[in-house]
Amino acid sequence: MPGIEQCARCGGQRSEPDTQPEKCGNCGGTGELRRVQHSVFGQFVNVAMCDRCRGEGRVITSPCRDCRGRGVEERTRRLQVKFPAGVDDGAQMRLSGEGAVGQHGGGRGDLYIQIGVRPHKLFQRDGDDLIYHLELNIAQAALGIELDVPTLEEPEPLRIPAGTQSGEVFVVRGKGVPHLRGGGRGDLLARAQVLTPKNLSAEQKRLLEELAESLGTPGAADDKGILGRIKDALG
Ligand SMILES: [Zn+2]
Ligand SMILES: [Zn+2]
Repeated sequence: MPGIEQCARCGGQRSEPDTQPEKCGNCGGTGELRRVQHSVFGQFVNVAMCDRCRGEGRVITSPCRDCRGRGVEERTRRLQVKFPAGVDDGAQMRLSGEGAVGQHGGGRGDLYIQIGVRPHKLFQRDGDDLIYHLELNIAQAALGIELDVPTLEEPEPLRIPAGTQSGEVFVVRGKGVPHLRGGGRGDLLARAQVLTPKNLSAEQKRLLEELAESLGTPGAADDKGILGRIKDALG
């Protein structure tokens, strides 16, 4: 990451290598300007910071040509950072002493890393739980099935009972995100979504029509439905 680093050429000394800053002639190297003032109350000394050396007492006569006498430069530094398992979006990490170098020989500040978690293609995060959208066709949902659900590691076997409805949630314990503090992990929540079939073949259509007849299709011409029955009751 790019950051403010000590200038490599002058080592932060701000002068060209092999040159020395000179004693400030304006203040005689003290960094202060003292002026004696006379007033009706007597005389007093007014001390002000020397404006030529800005209080340093030294003046750089040959500024380092890389950093133009600033002592620091912008440079990219690579850091290897280990993020703890379980960090979430918006978390902040502080790397002590890895920040910018102070301009006048001060130590390094801290580096703050703002963490943004990219969305996963299979899982949504809910705290330390992971949500997985489990798509079932109507036969699987109606009859039940044993299947494998993906996890962050190996797929896990899951038994879907007969008569599963859309929105039902099956819990795979301990397959979520590790808790940041303390041991253990969240769960993987497989949320069932029953898909209505589209683009049926002639055979599939025939089978469904048979099923519809067997189930006694609600809303068919011979069935008045709930509205019809209410009307009958009122009439
Ligand atoms: Zn320099
Ligand atoms: Zn001075």
